[in-house]
Amino acid sequence: MEFRYQCSECGSFYDLDPALTTCPLCSRKQKKDEPLRGVLEVRAEGELPEGEDLVQSLLPVPPEFFPPLPRVKGELWAPGRIREELGLKELYIMNDGCNPTGSFKDRASLLVSAFAKQHGIDTIVLASTGNAGSSMAGIGAAAGQKVVLFLPETAPPAKLIQALQYGATLYKVAGNYDMAYDLSLDYSEREGGMNRNTAWNPMTMEGKKTVSLDIYRQLGGKAPDRVFVPTGDGCILGGVYKGFKDLLHFGLIEKMPRITAVQAEGSNALYRAWKTGSFDFQPSTTVADSISVDIPRNGYTALKYLQDYGGDVVCVSDDQIIEAQAKLSSGAGLFTEPAGAAGWAGLLKCAGEIEENECAVVLATGSGLKDTATALKGVSMPEKTISNIEEIRG
Ligand SMILES: *Cc1c(COP(=O)(O)O)cnc(C)c1O
Repeated sequence: MEFRYQCSECGSFYDLDPALTTCPLCSRKQKKDEPLRGVLEVRAEGELPEGEDLVQSLLPVPPEFFPPLPRVKGELWAPGRIREELGLKELYIMNDGCNPTGSFKDRASLLVSAFAKQHGIDTIVLASTGNAGSSMAGIGAAAGQKVVLFLPETAPPAKLIQALQYGATLYKVAGNYDMAYDLSLDYSEREGGMNRNTAWNPMTMEGKKTVSLDIYRQLGGKAPDRVFVPTGDGCILGGVYKGFKDLLHFGLIEKMPRITAVQAEGSNALYRAWKTGSFDFQPSTTVADSISVDIPRNGYTALKYLQDYGGDVVCVSDDQIIEAQAKLSSGAGLFTEPAGAAGWAGLLKCAGEIEENECAVVLATGSGLKDTATALKGVSMPEKTISNIEEIRG
């Protein structure tokens, strides 16, 4: 197999090179406050080797460079009680809360870590709403790489603490994720290291594609009919499409599933662009911190995929997210963080239009333990304490 970069806008090909981030031609069109121009995708060419691990064969870095950690596979859940309640017999949840650091971001971090190792780069720099940072910190720790993080000061404490536990250098940014994104680019430009910012580093979308390969494998070698994806920057969305596109390219599936991006009402730049055809700027606010972004960095790529393959975008309110989170916990035993539950809220919104036997997969992208303060909004904590059983009866 041969791997090259291809620009998602102009189609130019480039050799894989850690110094290359976005397409040198298209990035000249970059304007302030708009998604990244010239996002590069990895193209796999040649014959799929037989008898080898499917996921590893489709990844552009050989296995010996990966950190000594279990390879992420996610877990496909078949939520029996919820299936019955909704009348959806082939409903699944892809749980990525079980990954080494508890979120979907491990899929990207593993590949970025391996790519850096392959090229002898020992420092990785990034901005994050929280999960990408704590993920890279943990995976960098396993690999023996130095990780420098830029996180908004408002990130849920568990994510900051997790990153510090792993030994990352943490800069708390006096502003939002978008500000952290720019600061981290500035830092890596001056200080060096590999920048792992989402979409900026082509290995992020490429690593995230493994979720589609894992869904394909865990469904016994088929693609689902529909996939629901919580969406902020649109890098997971792009990765989901990329994985199925690879499977199509190598003749393993016949059609692209219908993919639905789910956004929070208060952070729905991709939704607006999907409606109008162009990106505008609006400050975002939502309880689902992991999908709270003003400028969806992978916006152009994500929008193009949605248009090319007939995908769609739905929005859910914060209340619907909080409700969906509690419902998933109590109905399926899966405690996912608010952004993780956004996909679930999207499914609930669309449940009426899904046929009984259609196979639908909802991505649950992070463990609920990462943000308990928001989860508390969906339940009620007992007010008083007790010291004997009589008090319960009385
Ligand atoms: C990052 C993240 C998302 C959204 O991914 P994007 O690539 O930003 O669209 C969703 N859920 C969780 C838990 C995340 O950490």
